Amino acid sequence: MDRRGFLQIAGALPLLHALPSKAGDITSIFGIRLWPAPDHTRIVLDLDSEVEYKLSKSGNPGKVILKLKRAQPVLSLDAVVKEDPRLKSVKTWSAQGGNQFVVEFVLLRGVEARSFVLPPNESYGHRLVLDLHNLESKVGVAKPDRQQKSGSRKRLTIAIDAGHGGEDPGAVGHKGTKEKRIVLSVARRLEKLISKESGMRAVMIRKGDYYVSLGGRIRKARKSGADLLISIHADGFKKKSAHGASVFVLSDKRASSEMARWMARRENRSDRIGGVDRKRESRGLAYALRDMERGANQKISVDLAGIILQELKKIGDLHGNRVHRASFAVLKAPDFPSMLVETGFITNPREERLLRTSAHQQKLANAMMKAVRQFAAKYPSLGGGKSVRTNASIKGREYRVKRGDTLSSISKKSGISLSNIRKLNPGLSDMLRIGQKIRIQ
Ligand SMILES: [Zn+2]
Repeated sequence: MDRRGFLQIAGALPLLHALPSKAGDITSIFGIRLWPAPDHTRIVLDLDSEVEYKLSKSGNPGKVILKLKRAQPVLSLDAVVKEDPRLKSVKTWSAQGGNQFVVEFVLLRGVEARSFVLPPNESYGHRLVLDLHNLESKVGVAKPDRQQKSGSRKRLTIAIDAGHGGEDPGAVGHKGTKEKRIVLSVARRLEKLISKESGMRAVMIRKGDYYVSLGGRIRKARKSGADLLISIHADGFKKKSAHGASVFVLSDKRASSEMARWMARRENRSDRIGGVDRKRESRGLAYALRDMERGANQKISVDLAGIILQELKKIGDLHGNRVHRASFAVLKAPDFPSMLVETGFITNPREERLLRTSAHQQKLANAMMKAVRQFAAKYPSLGGGKSVRTNASIKGREYRVKRGDTLSSISKKSGISLSNIRKLNPGLSDMLRIGQKIRIQ
């Protein structure tokens, strides 16, 4: 075994970077970024060319071996251990006469490693991603609503989705302001406001600087029993002059304007930048997209989007006076209303300045809070009012699935909202079997 001491690069993660160096057909590992999230850590290796690699489990529990063909780091990988809560140790060595670079990770108990490669995009070059997942992910998923007892008041659960994060900075302003930071700050302010409201609770889709796939955002909202989802952004446009806040709802067909189409394209490419394991995600996304019977929730989405727009108008400029429609992946949940708020254009110098100030961030959060309050008063059955499950005639009932049933049709027949059916049947799939029993109380 030929052990080498690699060049130690000073500086804190997640930005360890050396200049890529190309020696023959050896792939250089020239950067490493680390994004710890509540339920996983993402380790991203920057490579200067495509690499063949293999991730395998060793006989010892917790030990995984990453073998890269004809690769060599120009920085030390050891520092990741200190920064990562899921790693016990990392060892690296060169094998096969320098033809192979081996990294041995020892993971903490209950952590599993997955890996995949990402092709270059406009932000990064070739990348090898190692995701360390908590097997029993109890952290990060919101606890079930304890107050959700039959007959008690149901709390309105609002999923707050701060756009982008981790590998994906979102739009970047002329002063270098990153969308992912601004929107997380606005989201936290809104969370704080909601948690003070009686009859409401907030669930943060991401709580820190890490990436959650677009499908993963919907799944997390659903798992935590969301009654609605608000995705917060501050995007950019090619023209500096573009300005004003806007609110979007999903459109299956055409985007409502050229700008809306552009925005949706930008937001949807998040998964390519943030890094998504295509194979795994396609399964998850199919789940989210299958049930297209979302008519009622779509109407509610448009309604709340309109209320938010009116509140935003009171605190600043709007980009157009109506709710926009476009095909955003994060809005594709059929079972709860969702909308996307573009708080302003980070590429407009005046708005970039504003978005950086805590005063404006607070105003944005206040405006959304006011809108949510109006919404809760208008749709008491979604939350905040008496739970629909207090109806005595359906107490203790189970529904047996018949031919042609969908979750939406069962929801209509039983008068139980889709999100409540999901809360009562954890892990319920959209693929129903005839004869399957579904709890509706
Ligand atoms: Zn965005």
